[in-house]
Amino acid sequence: MNSASGTGDSAAARRSLEALALGDAFGERWFPLFRPPRQAYGEVRARRTPHEPVWHWTDDTALARALHRVLDECGQVDQDRLALFFALAFEADRARGYGHGMHMLLPELLTSPGDWRTLAPGLFEGGSLGNGAAMRVAPLGARFHQDIDHVVEQAVLSAEVTHAHPEGIAGAVAVAVAAALSVRGEFTLAAVAGRTPGGLVREGLRRAGEVPFTTEPWKAADLLGNGQRIRADDTVPFALWTAARHPGDLEEALWATAEGFGDVDTTCAITGGVVGAVTGVDGVPAEWRQRREPLG
Ligand SMILES: [Mg+2]
Repeated sequence: MNSASGTGDSAAARRSLEALALGDAFGERWFPLFRPPRQAYGEVRARRTPHEPVWHWTDDTALARALHRVLDECGQVDQDRLALFFALAFEADRARGYGHGMHMLLPELLTSPGDWRTLAPGLFEGGSLGNGAAMRVAPLGARFHQDIDHVVEQAVLSAEVTHAHPEGIAGAVAVAVAAALSVRGEFTLAAVAGRTPGGLVREGLRRAGEVPFTTEPWKAADLLGNGQRIRADDTVPFALWTAARHPGDLEEALWATAEGFGDVDTTCAITGGVVGAVTGVDGVPAEWRQRREPLG
């Protein structure tokens, strides 16, 4: 348990990764592809466990796993290696729900990983401000929780490979810091906002800090965004609000996040990675763990 040892707290990182994958796979169940919105709404409100025998995880987990492997191997973010591992994850299964930008970027990085330096800033005129760098980064924060400055630095490096826009990067910093503070028992929305670079993500976190935890999650999602726009600033504040609302209870945290719908695999992946960095997945019903596709 020493970040100076190179790979940091790999046990905390693994807990966060397992919970991130659980959140991703659980959240994915609520998309209209699997059940009509009205039915999904009723089932989430009734806390009815999705009946499907296998809950597949999506791009959030595929890329989180790639980042996790690079950190296990190198002890820190090696950006070219990370670009290659992201491309390999994409190549292994392109049907994991990747966004348009990643479909354009990741195949290019398979043959020349170092090209992220020019290709990532060229996405969407100014780089992606999507939630893709935030959705995969919680285990990094858990791993390096002993040194928050290091968490911030490594989160930025991990984001830049695909998300060059400052808001895309800020989303990653916020989630990584939240996971680190979570492991330290110091997680508050104000503390996360205090370490997040200025901009829309930070403004959203400040607003989230003013939404009382007595507020119904769907209403909080209405105020803060639910990821429907797939932007970091409309995804991260709500996902961290539910994490802060249920810090010791992964199951309830994920139900609350699901009540927001929107980009629900990603919001649940973020919440899961932050809460689960402490709780792991042992507290959720056994059938949840059995149904989630294994990480391999
Ligand atoms: Mg996804």
